[in-house]
Amino acid sequence: MSEFSMYHAMGQGTPKPNAPVRKDEPNKFRPPVAASPGGYQQTGASASGQTPNQYMSPSNQNFPPAQEQGYFPPQPSPGFQTGHDMNNLTTQMGGVGLGVDVAAQPRQNKKKHRHAFHNLEAPGSSQAFNGMPQNGTPSQFLDQTSPGWPQPQITPAMSQFPAATPTFSPAAPATNAQHAARVGTPQAGSAASTQQGRVDPEHIPSVPRSRDTPAQYYLEHVYPTMEHHLPPPALVPFVAFDQGNSSPKFARLTLNNIPASADALATTALPLGLVLQPLAPLQDGEQPIPVLDFGEIGPPRCRRCRAYINPFMTFKSGGNKFICNMCTFPNDVPSEYFAPTDPSGVRVDRLQRPELTLGTVDFMVPKEYWSKEPVGLRWLFLIDVTAEAVNRGFLDGFCEGIISALYGGGDQDETEEGDSAQRRLPPGSKVGIVTFDKEIHYYNLSANLESAQMMVMTDIEDPFVPLQEGLFVDPEESKAVITSLLTQLPNMFSEFKNPEPALLSTLNSALSALTATGGKIVCSLTALPTWGPGRLFLRDDGNMHNNDAEKKLLTTEHPGYRKVAQKMVESGIGIDFFMAAPSGGYLDIATIGHVSATTGGEIFYYPNFHSPRDTLKLSKEIKHTVTRETGYQALMKVRCSNGLQVSAYHGNFYHHTFGADLEFGVIDADKAIGVMFSYDGKLDPKLDAHFQSALLYTTAGGERRVRCSNIVASVSEGAAEAMKFVDQDAVVNIIAKEAAARMSEKSLKEIRGALTEKTVDILAGYRRNFTGNNPPGQLVLPENLKEFSMYILGLIKSRAFKGGKEPTDRRVHDMRMIKAMGPLELSLYLYPRIIAIHSLDEKDGFANDNGYLRMPESVRASFSKVEEGGAYLVDNGQTCLLWLHASVSPNLLEDLFGEGHNSLKGLDAFQSTLPVLETHLSAQVRNILQYLESNRGSKALTLQLARQGLDGAEYEFARLLYEDRNNEAQSYVDWLVHVHRHIQLELAGQRKRDDSDGLASTASTFVGLRTPYWN
Ligand SMILES: [Zn+2]
Repeated sequence: MSEFSMYHAMGQGTPKPNAPVRKDEPNKFRPPVAASPGGYQQTGASASGQTPNQYMSPSNQNFPPAQEQGYFPPQPSPGFQTGHDMNNLTTQMGGVGLGVDVAAQPRQNKKKHRHAFHNLEAPGSSQAFNGMPQNGTPSQFLDQTSPGWPQPQITPAMSQFPAATPTFSPAAPATNAQHAARVGTPQAGSAASTQQGRVDPEHIPSVPRSRDTPAQYYLEHVYPTMEHHLPPPALVPFVAFDQGNSSPKFARLTLNNIPASADALATTALPLGLVLQPLAPLQDGEQPIPVLDFGEIGPPRCRRCRAYINPFMTFKSGGNKFICNMCTFPNDVPSEYFAPTDPSGVRVDRLQRPELTLGTVDFMVPKEYWSKEPVGLRWLFLIDVTAEAVNRGFLDGFCEGIISALYGGGDQDETEEGDSAQRRLPPGSKVGIVTFDKEIHYYNLSANLESAQMMVMTDIEDPFVPLQEGLFVDPEESKAVITSLLTQLPNMFSEFKNPEPALLSTLNSALSALTATGGKIVCSLTALPTWGPGRLFLRDDGNMHNNDAEKKLLTTEHPGYRKVAQKMVESGIGIDFFMAAPSGGYLDIATIGHVSATTGGEIFYYPNFHSPRDTLKLSKEIKHTVTRETGYQALMKVRCSNGLQVSAYHGNFYHHTFGADLEFGVIDADKAIGVMFSYDGKLDPKLDAHFQSALLYTTAGGERRVRCSNIVASVSEGAAEAMKFVDQDAVVNIIAKEAAARMSEKSLKEIRGALTEKTVDILAGYRRNFTGNNPPGQLVLPENLKEFSMYILGLIKSRAFKGGKEPTDRRVHDMRMIKAMGPLELSLYLYPRIIAIHSLDEKDGFANDNGYLRMPESVRASFSKVEEGGAYLVDNGQTCLLWLHASVSPNLLEDLFGEGHNSLKGLDAFQSTLPVLETHLSAQVRNILQYLESNRGSKALTLQLARQGLDGAEYEFARLLYEDRNNEAQSYVDWLVHVHRHIQLELAGQRKRDDSDGLASTASTFVGLRTPYWN
């Protein structure tokens, strides 16, 4: 969440006086460490700092992997293939990337500035650690008088916006610098030359560059949500300044300028959709969402369409009427809410009213919005105590994780003083503990007991709740009882060792325990539940893939699990599972996970759980699930302007009938929903299109609220304007969610084919309708969709959709995850962030002159970019690998792992963290890891070693190099060539949809998958 301070504050920890007090975010930055001792320079190393990196061998001439040799033409030489002269080529390539570097002035000539780790200052100096400025904390974003960046202010024009300028037209899509990575030749789009299947891999759009350049910009600039109308790339940390339009963290439209008619939209082949992450975390420097209380009358709403009051409603008749921005109905202003308007029609109190100036607000709501008395959130931990859980150390880890989540302690960032004394759950929340194997055990946790009392529920056919008093307790009052119980559980059950868990009975029992109040269940499971009612069996024998049988394995028809899921949602209950298959076994995640997917929960899945390697990840993830913002008993409604209507929702929730509200047992900060719109008329280009999402929920502290987000887009007659305001992350997110939603009806092969077709449709549509006079042989990409093809290729290669064998547990897990992922997490999942740590500049990983962490440029996901002797961090938001080349420098290993650890074989394969060492490199890498961890999603970051030739994780490393040919799909270059060829066929009227050369698909499968795609 707001871990920004961790890597910006750099040990100074002096927030600006006007920064929000964030008691929950102490400065967790590691204490400065002394510089390395000077005595260990390699022979020949120069102290001047100008030598090439000492970790690297001088050349990598023998290195290009055999696999890739056929894909990449020999090293590009100017004018290598196309016959264009160099200048011309450069011009054409400008938009693809060459121009980007010029605009953004990234570090030049990096090699020259590379430093070996040991090119440090004199021993004893700690300059590298203290060299940061005194005023560089990120809280200066709040300091509106600070001269460092344009001050976002509500300008007169903006403040009068609803009355004075009914037509919204974004001032600018983005500045050049702001979107340097995306900006080339805005009108003409970008060009990548292809000819006879040859593409220069250096010149195709680079995902790393598209992130790194804006990330630099947004270190020192805010994103004003009305002045600019094209959000930063989703993976880029930024501080949004809410000017009435919701921050992209909460809502991203695929098109921030919307064509007036369905026909005009169809020329783009793009979906019109909205990605909502209503409880998204904020980062330091952003204003907390205000909570507004209108007392018994509740927030003012439109009488006709029930839209909530928002900055785009206009006031008429001297302030007596307000005109709804969704349906244009003129409402009477309630007398309690009346304020006169000034001569320009603006309410005189506008600037004092957050609901009239901010895009995202929380409304407290009165009793009529309650379905039951709101109370603090009940957390019920269901702990698997069967033999597998005990034997494999999962029970141990899970219990430790709960203790750490409730009371701190356990993982690294807890070690600072004061943290453990802090209350983790909001006052009013309560916790309960249940264990289960073939029976269900409840515990009385009353604070007045010496130790917890167990009550065994043996009637698993008709489970009930055997106690009322002491089941849910205040975690602080009962701290001693809870801690002692959790500490003893692993020992207690090591004597019983029942092999089979009775899961469904336990879930039904938990449902009874929470029906009255609603709440959140956190359940561990380490074996296929084969006991009692709802017992499951091994459905996936590993041999069913690419056929209808596989499709069935991805869904569940189990009446027991479907029923308990539905009842949980109805009662305002949601569930997160922590599932481990320590021996790699099948867990039927399709069936069990249906309960969490339906109730708005999540699955944390450890397919190869190994204790103690994975206990830190387990512990961190339990802590995350307990401490992230969580609401329960939630309903969601999305409203839009006349002329548009919601056509589909995608995500993890319960949807009773179309048109009804979405229902969530629980919803948390990491969960996103995709909403698609269709036209039911024509939009008026003179007016704007408005969207409002309203999430009615109960907070963990027990307040009933509505989280309201308002989004506005301008409207144009045609679609040319729309193409300038395309949000690539939103488009990818909507398409991915929709693809995931189809997994129960279409085969994986059909889905991959449809994704390919969709990519061609969009790019061909652009080529046909929106480009100028580009030579026919050129692949022209829309400026803001430059990396779109790569992200779709990443999707096709993801575990959810990839060809070839993949355990259905993993497929269905990833599929449901994609449905719920926010744009940031999905971006990372579709294209990992790769950092070369053997060639870090000595300043990388430390604060720059302005106090911001200096991140090295990231590396393209291709083995051709891997250097001999290299060491790389590879993070896709789910796992973070540390890949080490076989001939990595022994000095690097010692700097990273400690003295004596100078060979790959000597490293502990199961370590999940780096030791804290007083070496420059150690500090750099740990700082970088901390940055990655704070900019990720719902999964915790721990390291997994992937040593070349030694560790199984190497396969995962190879799998994540999405630009190469792998995962039964093409390389990025070949994929672009393939797409390009089909665009040309489409433009020539010769495109057949039965292409069999690429991602093999058959003609019949595409019936109905065209625009409006997926039917
Ligand atoms: Zn209305």
